[in-house]
Amino acid sequence: MLIYGKEVAAKTLEKIMAMTADFESKYSRKPTLAVIIVGEDPASQTYVRNKINGCKQVGFNSLSYEYPDGTAQEEIENRIKSLAKDETVDGILVQLPLPKGYDEEKILSNIPDSKDVDGFNASNIGCLCLGRPRTVSCTPLGVMSMLESTGVDLNGKNAVVLGRSNTVGKPMAMLLLNANCTVTVCHSKTRNLADFTKNADILIVAIGKPKFVTADMIKEGAIVIDVGINRVDGKLCGDVDFESVEPKTSFISPVPGGVGPMTISMLLYNTLMSAIARENER
Ligand code: NAP
Repeated sequence: MLIYGKEVAAKTLEKIMAMTADFESKYSRKPTLAVIIVGEDPASQTYVRNKINGCKQVGFNSLSYEYPDGTAQEEIENRIKSLAKDETVDGILVQLPLPKGYDEEKILSNIPDSKDVDGFNASNIGCLCLGRPRTVSCTPLGVMSMLESTGVDLNGKNAVVLGRSNTVGKPMAMLLLNANCTVTVCHSKTRNLADFTKNADILIVAIGKPKFVTADMIKEGAIVIDVGINRVDGKLCGDVDFESVEPKTSFISPVPGGVGPMTISMLLYNTLMSAIARENER
């Protein structure tokens, strides 16, 4: 069966819209997301546009700051510092990757924990590792919603995550561990990769290599979630060779239409949670 992230995301967006209307009537303001983009990378510009459109769709305010490549690091950091102090801003997002030459870690360190709606900062990742998740990275959070939508009990399942990036692979592994899966994380130095993937009841693939995972690497009846987004000959494809893998799976997510739409809905969810937390603290 196919897991269409678009359908799961639509249900999440409906809930966010209803909660946003409640929020606005209670606090006389809209949740607000500030997005910063540096440079002219077309993929990043598309992601930012989609995020701004998502804000409009659910009734949030959005602020967009576009800087040309070559803008001084200090200017970007100062913008974040001022957004951090702004009481009307609930979430701050810097579109990654930044162009070469910027100190990404230093830029992101200016986003306070409470406005880190991407869930990338050390404190939010630390809370996730301690099993007390606060704001969790949007893509892995979206994958968990997709897994929940299957109705399959995750307890005790063998879960294998391909990829160990700080933004996808590592938080993904922690979420699965917190959901009582037995988790293995594989990466570019893993030997005999198929020995691990063939044992996976749940396989999450986030490596950025088009159609890398093939049918011979899959356990019969596995759930496969393909996080990868690759462009080959102008067409989008995932990290999984969908045509050969799909017949062996119980559930699989397609690309496009799989994880992508979930990421934005989870970003909006994180922003709303941040807005609610801020109002509760006042
Ligand atoms: P990344 O930072 O480049 O990390 C890739 C990971 O894959 C690394 O840990 C790398 O291992 C591992 N890897 C590379 N080649 C491998 C191989 N042959 N076998 C096993 N592991 C291998 O990428 P990312 O940011 O995590 O993103 C991964 C993919 O997901 C990309 O296609 C990206 O576009 C996509 N993505 C999609 C969404 C969405 O919303 N759908 C969101 C984020 C990312 P090492 O650590 O050893 O180098």
